[in-house]
Amino acid sequence: MPTHADRKEPEAALRVRALESLLAEKGLIDPKAMDAMVDLYENRIGPRNGARVVAKAWVDPAYRQRLLDDATAAIRELGFSGLQGEDMVVVENTDSVHNMIVCTLCSCYPWPTLGLPPVWYKSAPYRARVVADPRGVLHEFGVDVPDDKEVRVWDTTAELRYLVLPQRPAGTEHMDEAQLAALVTRDSMIGTGVVRTNGAPA
Ligand code: FE
Repeated sequence: MPTHADRKEPEAALRVRALESLLAEKGLIDPKAMDAMVDLYENRIGPRNGARVVAKAWVDPAYRQRLLDDATAAIRELGFSGLQGEDMVVVENTDSVHNMIVCTLCSCYPWPTLGLPPVWYKSAPYRARVVADPRGVLHEFGVDVPDDKEVRVWDTTAELRYLVLPQRPAGTEHMDEAQLAALVTRDSMIGTGVVRTNGAPA
């Protein structure tokens, strides 16, 4: 039976840390280089794949529809598939709905489109509070959702991994797909952020 892939994370994390310390002690790895590598996959390479999916959905209505109908297949069209991305569902933000994703049990996350999860995504406070008080969590991330807008929280599991399709910001009509992809942030695809143009209020 499939389970949350990283349910055994505490033990695995301890083993990884022990291995990392040993390798560092023997001078085989540089901890700073390890941190840089994690940062690369967590913040830069990983979420850029998801950003390309979002930008294509914004400029290509037929692709957007395929993405909402069968996210796994539509994402695979762009070459993103594999481990922790086998069963994807895309939830679309609209004028009336804002979506957020969490894994309440552990830290399930769509790796092929978002890379490695940020530390806060794996933290107990985020996992608990995003369910109990999603608007409060959003406020802390600098996003204030109007009272008349519904906030939906989706619990990601090993079986289903969600990706938020954020709203395309106003004033981007002249932008091409690559320019749009550059605006899309990791947090906007988790739902703890929205896409803004050059830091202007969305
Ligand atoms: Fe999980």
